[in-house]
Amino acid sequence: MSKEAVKTVSKSASGSIGTAWRCPVCGSGQQEPLVEKLGYLYVLCTGCGVASLDPLPDEALLEGMYEDFLALECDGVKMSDHFSPEYKEAYFREKDLDFKDLSFTPPASVSMLDVGCADGIFLRYMDERHSVEGEGIDVSLTMVEAARKEGFNCSNSKLEELTGPYGLVTLWDTIEHLPDPKKSLREVNRLLAETGDLIIQTPCIGTVSDAWGAEWIQYQPPYHTFLFTEEGLVRLLEESGFSVSGLVRFGAGVTESGNSLKPVFDSVVKSAGIGDTIVVWAKKTAVIYP
Ligand SMILES: [Zn+2]
Repeated sequence: MSKEAVKTVSKSASGSIGTAWRCPVCGSGQQEPLVEKLGYLYVLCTGCGVASLDPLPDEALLEGMYEDFLALECDGVKMSDHFSPEYKEAYFREKDLDFKDLSFTPPASVSMLDVGCADGIFLRYMDERHSVEGEGIDVSLTMVEAARKEGFNCSNSKLEELTGPYGLVTLWDTIEHLPDPKKSLREVNRLLAETGDLIIQTPCIGTVSDAWGAEWIQYQPPYHTFLFTEEGLVRLLEESGFSVSGLVRFGAGVTESGNSLKPVFDSVVKSAGIGDTIVVWAKKTAVIYP
């Protein structure tokens, strides 16, 4: 993505959104513009702490975007490189660390659904590391095909079409891509068994994103439709019938290739709890659907 297309929006520009703007999550009109990029504006709702794209791409556009997912390139990294053996090794290490940080151990023989499963890399992790055979769904037919070729139980189904119940639902780097995260979390609540577990990992707005401004790597319109502050995500989870059991934040927004100080930055932001990625473990504590 070219840097010329990026500019930070000054607070004085808030009037440019117009008075008709309403937060797609909570309906509040209180907003703060964050960044304008590629013809889209990220607007932070100061009512609920969730940022959304303005204009918000519709579901059909979002679904169509992921068919050529493997050919996409962002910040010089091809999406297809995400599935190299080196990536798999790093991915497994990161998931081991996430579970350790959250003090989360998957219940034995749990029925699991991975939402946004891509080529099934998390299903592979759960199978190889925890002997859990899960099920995955993804909007992209090409990714579902790749996962099925590897023998994983994946489909193009939507949350609304599933019946469950599952003991564990996971969304790794997925909720920020959804057209309506509030609706999706209600569906996840419906699909989970009583006291079932939910794990969500997503970019997190805060000190690090503020420091990077328009250069923050997670400002990726139109792919990243919603970006959450920690408070915003916790609040939405609580309103969707979940209670948070564990939470960790890590990452300083520094890419591997560009900076030898990455480990130092990462270590500092993680111990300060201000990382720009958040992983939350929550339990279903209330039934949202009748
Ligand atoms: Zn809101």
